Amino acid sequence: MIDLEKIVRENIINLKPYSSARDEFKGTADVFLDANENPFGTLNRYPDPHQIEVKEKLSTIKKVEKNQIFVGNGSDEVIDLAFRIFCEPGKDKVLTFSPTYGMYDVSANINNIELIKQPLINDFQINLNQLQPYLDFEDVKIIFICSPNNPTGNNLNPDDVEYILENFNGIVIVDEAYIDFSSQASFIKNINKYNNLIVSQTFSKAWGLAGVRAGVAYANEEIINLYNRVKPPYNVSSLNQKAVLNCLDNLEIVKGNIDVILTERIKLQEALSKLSIVKKIYPSDANFLLIEVDSANDTYKYLIDEKVIIRNRNTQIANCIRITVGTAEENERLIKSLENIK
Ligand SMILES: *Cc1c(COP(=O)(O)O)cnc(C)c1O
Repeated sequence: MIDLEKIVRENIINLKPYSSARDEFKGTADVFLDANENPFGTLNRYPDPHQIEVKEKLSTIKKVEKNQIFVGNGSDEVIDLAFRIFCEPGKDKVLTFSPTYGMYDVSANINNIELIKQPLINDFQINLNQLQPYLDFEDVKIIFICSPNNPTGNNLNPDDVEYILENFNGIVIVDEAYIDFSSQASFIKNINKYNNLIVSQTFSKAWGLAGVRAGVAYANEEIINLYNRVKPPYNVSSLNQKAVLNCLDNLEIVKGNIDVILTERIKLQEALSKLSIVKKIYPSDANFLLIEVDSANDTYKYLIDEKVIIRNRNTQIANCIRITVGTAEENERLIKSLENIK
């Protein structure tokens, strides 16, 4: 257990949060003249600032308490608010691994926080020996762990993640954007055991709601209270809350689509492995494949001419491309194009 008070920024501890009209009166009534809303229209009322219905459903599905859930405007908000809660601009640092998701870096830059990068080793796993000295640095406030990792697709070893949770006096954010595609269990089960753990998930990938912008943080109540203090009052729109609720009411459809994507991933892997330009296909626990080819730049450009867009990851991992698993038809179109490379 870490002393959370010690690592929270002083201005956040002293903050008097905004109290919205919906915060001050929560009961039912006949006439609402408290929020300067327009009395006409269908989207004229402010949304529930605490997304209670969404949290009730998530609470049942994920087996956590409602007060252990924060719903944000995409994972970006989950990440950005962590910076604002824990990191003093120009002074504190955060640590992440490389290669990984680019937004940790960008969000650190926006918040004027120095980012320390540790290379992943042996097919993209954490090097605990190299990490060890940083675990004791007082100005390292957050360690970001993306598992399954983007763009490599592999799970990070859960024993390493637990070692970090146990030995680091700062916050550990485990980004599980791809967990629903993974063979590995979520770290959500550990939020009662480690009070420095934030598990970040998203509706953008397996849940099929990238257009909605909804990300979720699961953590102990104390951390969630901090998130609630700093978040914009009405951070998730009523349209978006409705879309999420609709999705949570149709779990069978979501599960069915995940199964299709996982089957397609295997088919895509097999088809790609037969191509002469493919040097290596990394094992994936996500909805994408990292592939080493003869020339990532050439393959990328060639596919653009074919009107098929993939992600060129050459600058992160030499001659690697990242391909998202699409529908059977989309994947076949990709393979056909690649087969025609001279
Ligand atoms: C796609 C992705 C997200 C999702 O971000 P949203 O803002 O919720 O759409 C988060 N983390 C990683 C590693 C991702 O690849």
